[in-house]
Amino acid sequence: MNATASLLADTICRTVELGVTITDAAVAGEFTHLFCSPVAIDPVCADCGVAGRLRDHVERKVTDLPIVGHPTRLHVRVPRFTCDNLECETRIFQQRMPALAEPRAKTTRRCTRWILQRLA
Ligand SMILES: [Zn+2]
Repeated sequence: MNATASLLADTICRTVELGVTITDAAVAGEFTHLFCSPVAIDPVCADCGVAGRLRDHVERKVTDLPIVGHPTRLHVRVPRFTCDNLECETRIFQQRMPALAEPRAKTTRRCTRWILQRLA
C-alpha cells in the first residue's frame, strides 16, 4: 500500500470509531476538512424517548485529532427531528452523537483526551 492509500485507510478507520462515514474530504490551508454523515440514524427524543420526524439537517463542526500534523475539522451532517409528542417540552432536536462528542462540544471525545494527555 502506498502512503496516500494507507493514510486514507487509517483516516477511514478512525472515523468509523466516531460513528460517522466520510462523504468528502478537502485540504484548505492548515486544515484537513472531512465531510461526514452518521452511520446510523437515531430519531429518538432524549426528553421523552419517542421517535421524532425528520425535519432537516444541520452541519456540526468538531475538531478531531491531527492527520500527519494537520488539524482535522469534521463537518458532520446531523439530522434534526421534530418531536410530535404533545406532552414533551422538546420541539426540535438534533440527533445525539455519543461516540463523536459531548452535546455542544467543539472537539471530539478522543481529541479532548489527546489534548489532556499532552498537557499532563
Ligand atoms: Zn420529545
